[in-house]
Amino acid sequence: MKPDLLLIGPVTPRMQARLDAEFSVHRLPADPEAQGAVLAEHGAEIVAVCTGGGLGLPTPIMDQLPKLRVISSYGVGYDTIDADLAASRGIIVAHTPNVLNDDVATTAILLWLATSRKMVAYDTYLRAGRWEAEGYPPLTTSPQNRTVGIIGLGRIGQAIADRLPPFGATIVYHGRSKKDVPYRYYADLVEMARDCEVLICITPGGPETRHMVNAEVLKALGPQGILVNVARGSVVDESALVTALQDGTIAGAGLDVFEEEPKVPEALFSMENVTLQPHIASATVETRQAMGDLTCDNLSQFMKDGTVIAPVPECAHLSPKG
Ligand code: NDP
Repeated sequence: MKPDLLLIGPVTPRMQARLDAEFSVHRLPADPEAQGAVLAEHGAEIVAVCTGGGLGLPTPIMDQLPKLRVISSYGVGYDTIDADLAASRGIIVAHTPNVLNDDVATTAILLWLATSRKMVAYDTYLRAGRWEAEGYPPLTTSPQNRTVGIIGLGRIGQAIADRLPPFGATIVYHGRSKKDVPYRYYADLVEMARDCEVLICITPGGPETRHMVNAEVLKALGPQGILVNVARGSVVDESALVTALQDGTIAGAGLDVFEEEPKVPEALFSMENVTLQPHIASATVETRQAMGDLTCDNLSQFMKDGTVIAPVPECAHLSPKG
């Protein structure tokens, strides 16, 4: 008898095949009524959850899985899973750190460059026939020799920093703790924003970082400043950001994430000074394959010896090998 697994959110065919080989897979439907039926029929036997698409595991569903022992998240951010609660119940939460650092970091750089050089706006300008009709568009701003502030110098934050030297950037950072790195640390985000021309957010989401980038931070960033968010939509006060972009408080923004995905404030659609992406920072074939493999490897290892390869910090004590 294969162990029972609850599958939440989209997975790749390769992941689906691996999960089907090792588990009796029960897909959680999107419709709440249909969810109730699946949970009533299988909830009592579920030992593992595999969750993707940022859906996490809502606590009311976790509460209906009395035999649950492991949650494997197809992603590194786990703000939609209560990891402390899981740990208190002896449930290990696993995720996919490091394998996505390069693509997410490159996306952050692309968003910054595209915004400062108006790459998307001018692509649209050309395609609309405006080059021929109206002539050469206004000059843009060079990304060279800027002070770039990284909010959250963790695994991905460091990969972003590693990409900055060719731009002659002065790298600074803000986070909860000072690191052993050759960049200036700011304990105060407003102070850092005041000294920066570019701010890149790459912290986790969740209540601790909610609206860290608020109207005061945006004002400090100033009229030449560009904000890049590849973290979570919740990290930035979106309505304050829209206002700051409309009234010239900051120069522009490159955004991969939004507060109410897939809803994006319509006011952003007509702005030339923003670059928008539908939460695709890790969405390459190569990185999604590596993330999918690690998601499944975490589950396979758990079924062998009760540990996972990559536990989240809150559950590390439950998985000594991880
Ligand atoms: P890490 O845990 O390695 O780094 C997180 C960093 O954020 C750390 O430097 C940490 O600082 C800092 N941080 C955490 N909490 C706070 C806080 N309250 N205030 C200030 N700084 C804080 O994570 P990763 O680099 O692997 O991933 C970071 C996040 O990126 C993920 O959690 C996810 O939300 C997002 N992400 C987005 C993707 C996308 O598709 N757009 C794809 C992948 C990740 P300290 O070390 O001092 O604690």
